Amino acid sequence: MTFRTRRVLTALLLAPIVLLAAASGAGCGRPGSPPVKGPSPGALPRYRVDHSFRLPASPTWTAARERGYLVVGAKEDQPYLGERDPATGRYSGFDIEIARMTAASLGFGPKEVRFRTIASANRETALQNGQIDTYVGSYTINAKRKKLVGFAGPYYMAGQSLLVRTDEHGIEGPRDLDGRRVCSAAGSTPYQRIKDDYPRAELVAYDTYSVCVDNLLTFQVDAVTTDDTILLGYAAKAPDALKVVGRPFSKEPYGIGVPRDDNALRFALDDALVAREKNGDWQRAYDATLGLSGRKATPAPPVDRYPAN
Ligand code: GLU
Repeated sequence: MTFRTRRVLTALLLAPIVLLAAASGAGCGRPGSPPVKGPSPGALPRYRVDHSFRLPASPTWTAARERGYLVVGAKEDQPYLGERDPATGRYSGFDIEIARMTAASLGFGPKEVRFRTIASANRETALQNGQIDTYVGSYTINAKRKKLVGFAGPYYMAGQSLLVRTDEHGIEGPRDLDGRRVCSAAGSTPYQRIKDDYPRAELVAYDTYSVCVDNLLTFQVDAVTTDDTILLGYAAKAPDALKVVGRPFSKEPYGIGVPRDDNALRFALDDALVAREKNGDWQRAYDATLGLSGRKATPAPPVDRYPAN
């Protein structure tokens, strides 16, 4: 089956769910529009912008200030977390709010933050070559990545899980993946974990998780694996077709990626996260986004603030 045929099939499979929701008046039912229970802009918090903020020690901040806006790398196909409406080009989700609230602390108002979609496998390069100033998109902090980029945070703790079709009863955890086809994103920690720890699974990689979900809905693969935050979003969008099974089997602390040597920027973002958690913005943002997928807010883990490189 070609990629195009698969996309058409997925649209067809998801269409009844979307139409049903539209008929019940729950939201807009146009395919490609945000999820039915998706963040409504009116419910999102407004963040106080610190106009007097200055950070001359940060080359990234200084260049962004001169340019007039901050460029933030993000995801565009992760419901409730990082999603781009193709009709308006607007990004929404918890990661997007984290980017907006911390940018406000750094002096950048909502119109001075521009998002750019970057896939999992390209995050480090994008930060290294200055394509983006920061990255906020389900980005797990780990030792290997810390050699290439810096991380503010963590601001959330996710865990690797499994997404299957509702008619699947043979997969409850990663051990059940032996001989089954499982899809994940290239360059991601969940992909690497299956490769290292569950070598008998038949691992398939694409650039994005939404392509994996297309493959799951069209019976090309048996499961999709990545963070529970991401998978719960897909399941919430198509509850008749998809379910998240078992318990999370890893810890994925989410950080804000920054250029590796820009310690001043990293510490400023750490301070911003602490302040936004304290004043309730973090919780308000969570409730208006990721909270809608049914995942309870586990309190943000303490900010790490590791010493300067
Ligand atoms: N948090 C994991 C990672 O950073 C999976 C999600 C993603 O690929 O963005 O690799």
